[in-house]
Amino acid sequence: MDKIYFKDRYDKGEPDYLNCPFTKEEYYHFVETLLTGEKHQPHSFENDMTDEKMKFYQNCMPIEELAKRGKDTLRFGVMRPIGLERKGETPFAVLQLRPENHEHTAYNLVGCQTMLRYSEQKRIFRLIPGLEKAEFLRYGSLHRNSYLNAPEVLSDNLSLKNAPNVFVAGQLSGVEGYVECIASGLLVAKVISEDMSLLPPETIMGQIWRRLIDTNIQNFQPVNANFGLLPALNKPIRDKKQKKLALVERSIKALQDFLQNK
Ligand SMILES: Cc1cc2nc3c(=O)[nH]c(=O)nc-3n(C[C@H](O)[C@H](O)[C@H](O)COP(=O)(O)OP(=O)(O)OC[C@H]3O[C@@H](n4cnc5c(N)ncnc54)[C@H](O)[C@@H]3O)c2cc1C
Repeated sequence: MDKIYFKDRYDKGEPDYLNCPFTKEEYYHFVETLLTGEKHQPHSFENDMTDEKMKFYQNCMPIEELAKRGKDTLRFGVMRPIGLERKGETPFAVLQLRPENHEHTAYNLVGCQTMLRYSEQKRIFRLIPGLEKAEFLRYGSLHRNSYLNAPEVLSDNLSLKNAPNVFVAGQLSGVEGYVECIASGLLVAKVISEDMSLLPPETIMGQIWRRLIDTNIQNFQPVNANFGLLPALNKPIRDKKQKKLALVERSIKALQDFLQNK
């Protein structure tokens, strides 16, 4: 604990995360080792994949794959140190640990999805400053993410084009995330029970829905909720917080109008 420290990025809320700071040398050594680590070889039934063919969902990219993109990719991504300064100094890179339980007796390594062999995970993740003697309760492994190529197979009302009595919601429909999938389930229930039409474009679910049926999208990937999906405000607002507030208010207003005119 003399190497690592509690801090949430930009000190938002009670500090919950533990931070492992890297020096320049430690960081590049870690990246090098990730690149040479031995990986789990997928079985043929896991996918028809050799390394080149393997398709990763962008939000679940294995850390060793990210490291392949460039030696600085990690420190500008999952290991970025900004907002995690210690005693006024910004480390070269930081790996964050997120508590797994209330007792704070177990942590997971943020952004460390991996296909490295278990023995390699133990060796390589112990290079992280502060984790030299870490005990590993569970090793990382990748999961397969099943989803439809929604724009190709779904109709505008989220039923299958070739089986219109079958409606698809949640992960399988190409929606990603807990809340998004719950919202998607409710949405499809409304479509079935009330023949609800496309939600207004000013709402996040309206935009997610549009993505699922947008036939212009090439290489469809599951969609998460985010403000970037929403159309720009008529009058641009610079302050980020105010901008989000304005987007939320516009969304609620659009939804109220939509429900009243239904
Ligand atoms: C490791 C991991 C971490 C994640 N972390 C986050 C996170 O931090 N935040 C976040 O927002 N999202 C996260 N997600 C994504 C999130 O879990 C999913 O987007 C969401 O749970 C999908 O909900 P769903 O109900 O559509 O599908 P699921 O939760 O996959 O539910 C589908 C259910 O159908 C059942 N089923 C499958 N086939 C059949 C069958 N033939 N008959 C009967 N039942 C069947 C399955 O057993 C399962 O219970 C994570 C996903 C994974 C895998």
